[in-house]
Amino acid sequence: MSASVAPHRPVLVSGGAGFLGSHLCERLLHAGETVVCIDNFSTSSRADIEHLLAHPRFTLREMDVSELDALRFERVGAIYNMACPASPLHYQRNPLGTLFTSIRGTDNLLRLARRSAVRMFQASTSEIYGHPSVHPQNEHYWGHVNTMGPRACYDEGKRCAETLCYIYSTRFAVSVRIARIFNTYGPRMRLNDGRVVVNFICQALRNRPITVYGDGRQTRSFCYVDDMIEAIVRMMDERNRCHGPINIGNPAEVPIVELARLIVQLTGSRSSIVCRPLPKDDPPRRRPDISLAREVLGWQPGTALQTGLALTIHDVERRLRAGRRRRRSAAAVARDASVEGARAP
Ligand code: UDP
Repeated sequence: MSASVAPHRPVLVSGGAGFLGSHLCERLLHAGETVVCIDNFSTSSRADIEHLLAHPRFTLREMDVSELDALRFERVGAIYNMACPASPLHYQRNPLGTLFTSIRGTDNLLRLARRSAVRMFQASTSEIYGHPSVHPQNEHYWGHVNTMGPRACYDEGKRCAETLCYIYSTRFAVSVRIARIFNTYGPRMRLNDGRVVVNFICQALRNRPITVYGDGRQTRSFCYVDDMIEAIVRMMDERNRCHGPINIGNPAEVPIVELARLIVQLTGSRSSIVCRPLPKDDPPRRRPDISLAREVLGWQPGTALQTGLALTIHDVERRLRAGRRRRRSAAAVARDASVEGARAP
């Protein structure tokens, strides 16, 4: 059990049914913690935590973190705030919901952290750097974000959440840990997630055109989920030296068109690569400077892109196959029912 968790109390994971959240819940349970997961299932699925529901130390509360009442909620042993849609496709669908999840949700959880006198982890993002003029991005860079664009609901919400953490830590002595999370991928990303890795894998496995937005020269740096969870847990456990936000990500930078080619190669796909318009405010490049994470946490990612992609492809393949099986048996049931209906007097 972690030294950073107040004894005999559960660890709260908001957004615990989401991609990162569900991996984190698993990791905490494995470490012997009792976990309360809250999620409103706006972009996550109960199916992704089905295997945890039977666990004796796991509880699910279906609720919206922006409506959590910090005065009524039970005292907890530690808080991980992982709640907020992270895919541009999803977070732009309900921009007010996205913004309030970050602002009200983080405020509610910080109140709860204060009342419980425990540490809170805040999942921040590389998006707070926006369209960066410093490359690679280090934690001293203040960012370059358009407040009036389609990504602002996420970027500005997360920026404000960092400010809330700053205020609660300086005014009310709440212990906070802020990770600026760069692009992360791995098993259990939803098939309709909309982010590049899972989009390309689904397209490649179906031999459909791979949709590269823009000319594909924009870059991202992809971190495998297990490496990310390891950093998050280390950060929460680190006793003294995490004073400000820390970049967590894999510094290996890839142009998006290269990613497309690699996924075609790894899947043995017959897909062609096609260009589609670049979404507004899409950052042209992104790569974390992780010197601080190396120094303070003794952490660096260990999973090479090819290895992580192979594991993710395997997972997506399995779920696509299961989906096809489910659809086939539903069609068979419907067929049988219509035959029975036709026979009925
Ligand atoms: N992208 C793409 N094709 C897709 C999905 C995304 O070319 O089907 C590009 C997108 O324009 C961006 C990069 O891939 O430049 C990463 O996009 P993603 O949505 O995964 O996350 P972001 O880093 O933009 O938040």
